[in-house]
Amino acid sequence: MPEPVIEPSPRRCSECHELREMDEFQDEGYRCKYCDSMQPEISRYADRADEKKERLNDGLNRLVRATLSRAPELPGVTEICQQMFHLFGGLNGLCAAWFADIHFAKPGSKTRLEQYTRIVQLLQAAVAEQQSQFDIESASEEELEQAVRDYVLRIVDDSKEAEAHVDSA
Ligand SMILES: [Zn+2]
Repeated sequence: MPEPVIEPSPRRCSECHELREMDEFQDEGYRCKYCDSMQPEISRYADRADEKKERLNDGLNRLVRATLSRAPELPGVTEICQQMFHLFGGLNGLCAAWFADIHFAKPGSKTRLEQYTRIVQLLQAAVAEQQSQFDIESASEEELEQAVRDYVLRIVDDSKEAEAHVDSA
């Protein structure tokens, strides 16, 4: 019966997780020679990723600051609505004019159906606004960043939706 040959057991590299022979490791290290040689490259890559993340956060912070500092100079949606209400003769006047348009439109016509859709959309917008009340004063920097990200994504989504509407019209 031949003696069992005891081969040096291969070791798994802690970095690439490949099973490698012992001579592929430097001394008692748990990282193979290949991974060892890649370390400078890997840490350079990690540094670049960190720099990129830092630049992204800087940009985001500038955007948040610019948005907050510019906000008081822009006419708010509320102001625009108030001015329209005023020109229509108040909220009652606007609603009366709107109602008349619906009332005198041909029953079952596209105009009339579109107006019903508008009312439903207004209700949906009101519910969404109620659910997304955001307190800027007490928000942390992370919460502000997240809010801006959500806001930007919503704008992008809305404009995509609008484009889709134009395309299908
Ligand atoms: Zn390795």
